[in-house]
Amino acid sequence: MQHIKIKPGAPLAEQAEIGHNRWHPDIPDLTSVKPGEEMILECMDFLDAQIKDTDSANDVRDVDLTRAHPLTGPIHVEGAEPGDILVVDLLDIRCITPVGFSGIFAKENGGGFLAEHFPEADKAIWDLHGVYATSRHIPGVRIAAMMHPGLIGTLPSHDLLREWNRREALLVPKGHANPPDAKTAVLRGVKGAEFDRMAAEAARTVPPREHGGNLDIKNLTIGSRIYFPVYVKGAGLSMGDLHFSQGDGEISFCGAIEMDGAAHLGFDLIKGGMAKYNLTAPIYVPGRHDPKYDQWMHFTGISVEEGVNYYLDSTVAYRQACLAAIDYISRTTDLSRAQAYMLLTAAPVEGRYGGVVDLPNSSASLALPTGIFDTDILPKGALNDAARFGRPGTRCSLT
Ligand code: ZN
Repeated sequence: MQHIKIKPGAPLAEQAEIGHNRWHPDIPDLTSVKPGEEMILECMDFLDAQIKDTDSANDVRDVDLTRAHPLTGPIHVEGAEPGDILVVDLLDIRCITPVGFSGIFAKENGGGFLAEHFPEADKAIWDLHGVYATSRHIPGVRIAAMMHPGLIGTLPSHDLLREWNRREALLVPKGHANPPDAKTAVLRGVKGAEFDRMAAEAARTVPPREHGGNLDIKNLTIGSRIYFPVYVKGAGLSMGDLHFSQGDGEISFCGAIEMDGAAHLGFDLIKGGMAKYNLTAPIYVPGRHDPKYDQWMHFTGISVEEGVNYYLDSTVAYRQACLAAIDYISRTTDLSRAQAYMLLTAAPVEGRYGGVVDLPNSSASLALPTGIFDTDILPKGALNDAARFGRPGTRCSLT
């Protein structure tokens, strides 16, 4: 079985053999597999080895975000043609080095979902003990692994790349999208004038798109099967940005628990599958390796922020749920609000819609697994179970 290796700690530009950090249909294949075959792909952390195992957050503050995301690939799948579905089984995922990181980007360099509330850079280093992660920077918690790729996708066609560049260019003047940036582009095996042409139009890897890409879905765990649209001959699968764990929304933007990792993948094709199933974006069936938490606290939010009523805006509602959870954690544990923010981006919290129809307010909730904490964080002062349910004569109250 093929095993594509990285050099942990070295930036992508020095890793001659692994890959690229932009999307472009003309990137040469890294290797090829046949349908039915398996391979192991190692992947670098999403910030290109810029974040170190130290107690200073200056590396997060000063990070060059244009170096994201170093990807391993593209993998050419023999016989794949535009219109097929590429089937990828995530058979296993492991960390390569025993250290991961989470962080908060500074408001002026990256920001995040709560940048208005947390403008300063911060960082948490995680020690990865097999399937558990602990952090000297967020004491009193232990997170069970929910390993998944933050980023996995197929190459776009020339037409699709043109369409991405067209629609995203409209957002660039507002700072709501990143234009192509040749300066730090890495396109393995491409040089000279050809590099200049491709780098000038190659799409950044930050947003998820029709081909998958930076989906940041924590439920793509071990055992998942993903169905990708194929836009180019050979499909061109690339992946990177492996996570030890992540909360829904990856709210701090400086990641989940980011790590160098290896994924064991299986490949297959469904010929002509895109038309048959009208596949216009990836679909997936999650695996069976979720962490087992049996108690959750749900924090709720509505689409009202600082006195302004936003019309059915579930993003605002989720932000309010996140802020409520952060405030609660900072009151019931020894963690600061910044530590709680980094915890919510790293732990497997569940983000959920409530209503999206009850004008003017949508509702959303954030579910926090209480088992990640060393201490009991539930509100105190009400009847406990023994007092409530130990009383005689109160059974069958409706009969
Ligand atoms: Zn990530």
